[in-house]
Parts: sequence; structure tokens; C-alpha cells
Amino acid sequence: MSEEVSTAFQAGLTHFGIAESAAAFLRYRDELLAWNSRFNLTAIKDPEEVLLKHFLDSLTLLQVYDQPGAIHVLDIGTGPGFPGLPLKIARPGWHVTLIEATGKKTTFLRHIVDTLQLTNVEVLNVRAEELAHKNPYRAHFDLVTARAVAALPTLLECSAPFCRPGGTIILPKKGELADEINQGKHTAFRVGSHFQQDIEVTIPGLDDGRRLLVWEQQKLCPPQYPRSWAAMTKQPL
Ligand code: SAM
Repeated sequence: MSEEVSTAFQAGLTHFGIAESAAAFLRYRDELLAWNSRFNLTAIKDPEEVLLKHFLDSLTLLQVYDQPGAIHVLDIGTGPGFPGLPLKIARPGWHVTLIEATGKKTTFLRHIVDTLQLTNVEVLNVRAEELAHKNPYRAHFDLVTARAVAALPTLLECSAPFCRPGGTIILPKKGELADEINQGKHTAFRVGSHFQQDIEVTIPGLDDGRRLLVWEQQKLCPPQYPRSWAAMTKQPL
């Protein structure tokens, strides 16, 4: 596939100080599209859209959270790696755990981690609500994220148990969010989180209503959470 990187994507990489990572992203994009016909990994099939709507969109988390050093990051329901793997490429010192319920997606993730020779990436084929009750994962992470997995109340009930007190949860969302944020605030109160910020994504090429919802984990999440997926989705807190 093309060796070319579009101006918008290259400008995005430069914006985040990682212009030299273009080759890794192109390889990731080419492997994703090559595996897509067999594994149905992404609905976005246009090569340029993969760069902008998957990779650059994942990197926008760095707009609100960026830390030097070996912080621990969790991506819940990562699919083919979003946003966790682009963040790992951008910040190689981070320890990144990717959890994904579908086995064929974790097969792809392991392939891409090997291909790009990434270290300190853990790929787990598990359901978030089960792993969240286990050590060493509970209350372990500095940053927890999940993109396009569920509504805010479910995402918060799933994310908060993994986050250490003082840690950060960032949930990318799009569209009209006022009601969802209000529901999320109720859930946050129950799981020890607190709403911090609703940040508009302003990167050129992604100016279509994308937002980053930022929550601080203020205390340990009570041990009864998360509940089963059915309870979380049908009876939100
Ligand atoms: N985060 C990726 C992205 O933004 O492109 C994938 C989004 S995809 C719409 C949702 C993913 O979450 C699917 O791959 C699904 O298998 C995974 N998923 C859903 N519920 C999950 C759970 N309870 N635990 C782990 N993964 C889950």
C-alpha cells in the first residue's frame, strides 16, 4: 500500500511531537486493512480515513493527558487497538494493557505488537467486567480509556474499578452528550469517580463534534462493581 502520509496526518503527528513514527503507523494501517477481509476488524476501509479517524483520533487523548515515564494505561474493548496502540506508539515508555472480548481481534493485536516490536504491551482476551475483580488489575492503572464500547454509565462502572485513586479516566465520545453526561455523573458518584472536563477535539481533520470526557478517580471503587454486563446495560447505576 501507499508509502505516502497525508498532510493532515503528518501535521497531526508533528503536533504530538512524533513525526518520526509515520512508518510504524503506515505498517499498522496496512496490516489492519490486509487482515480486515478475514477478521472484520474495522468498518473504516479507506486508507486515509484509517490514519485520521482511528490513529489520529486515538492520539487526541494526548491533548488532555500526557505523562513522561512508565505509567500504566488500560484500554477496555480495544478492538484492533484503539486508542491504546497508537498511544503506545506515540509514548513508547508507557505500559499498555489492551483488553478485548473477541478472540480474533486479540489474535490481530498480538500480530501487530510483534510486527512493530512493541514492548510492555499486554493483550488479554477477556471481558472487562470479569477482569476488573482480579488482582493485579483492580485499582492498578494511572489512565483508563475505552472508545466506542458502551454508554457512559456502563463505561464508568467498567472503568472505575481498574483506576487507582488519583488516576484518570478518559472516554472519547461524539454527538449530543448532555443527557449521557448527566447519567454518567450519577454513576460516577457510585463508583468513586468525579467528572472533570468535557474537552472538544480541535485537531484539523477531526473537527466533527468529537469530545473527550475526563473523570478523576477520587477513591477506591466499591467492591461490588462492576456488575454483570446485563446489569450494567439494563439497570445503569
Ligand atoms: N475501541 C475500538 C475502537 O474504538 O475502534 C473498538 C470499538 S468496537 C465498536 C467495541 C469493542 O469492544 C468490540 O471489539 C467488542 O468485542 C469489545 N467489547 C465489548 N464489550 C466488552 C467487554 N465487556 N469486555 C471487553 N471487550 C468488550
